[in-house]
Amino acid sequence: MITVNRHWPYVLGLAGLAVLGVALTQVLGGATSSPGPLPTAAPQVPGAVVPPPASVVGAAHFPAIHWRRSVAVGLPWGGRLRDGVLLPAYGRDFATWDPILLRYPNRAGRRWGTARLIKTLVYVLYRYHRAHPQAPPVLVADLSRPRGGPFTGRYGGLGHDSHQNGLDVDVLYPRRDGKVLPAGPHDIDHRLAQDLVNRFVAQYAQYVFVGPHTGLHGPRGVVQTLVHHDDHMHVRVYPR
Ligand SMILES: [Zn+2]
Repeated sequence: MITVNRHWPYVLGLAGLAVLGVALTQVLGGATSSPGPLPTAAPQVPGAVVPPPASVVGAAHFPAIHWRRSVAVGLPWGGRLRDGVLLPAYGRDFATWDPILLRYPNRAGRRWGTARLIKTLVYVLYRYHRAHPQAPPVLVADLSRPRGGPFTGRYGGLGHDSHQNGLDVDVLYPRRDGKVLPAGPHDIDHRLAQDLVNRFVAQYAQYVFVGPHTGLHGPRGVVQTLVHHDDHMHVRVYPR
């Protein structure tokens, strides 16, 4: 707890720098096609700082998860989510990250999954943090929309082909420099990132997609390399 909280002022300051950097890039350079739904780490320029939410800094309690029995309807690339569970904006072991606005936390409309997905995610991050108490919180980006359905570029960036029925979540790679920001392939802490992959595999993830330049690996058929995943892993769980 103490370790994590001590990171926050630093972390949030860095987020502010990242947000401004990308905003400038977009304003000056125009929006261009990016290689994937998650932009790589933004250039850091001095500037605005995202104010730390009072509920996070020094928080003894994080938002509770309201569990309910969810149903993943249809397919990840053509389906919807019934009675989804909302991943809280922050937890003891993670923070959510908005891959479009490049800031904490991710918007609530992008943080829904089946109970099973949320349970798997929270459990893996809890165990990971227990094993690496000095590691900063893991960043979690998009899951599904509140009722699932298409999560296309209409919602920002290139959008997602899948992420439609509450079974998918994007998890950012831990960085070597310990910053809580998106990591490109050269920033990844391979030991920590591989441990995270292994833990999702051990919790019966159906797939963990990792970028071809990450050097991450796992059982064939479960851990697969896929373009556009050098800056995040994509975890899919089974419907039940
Ligand atoms: Zn994804």
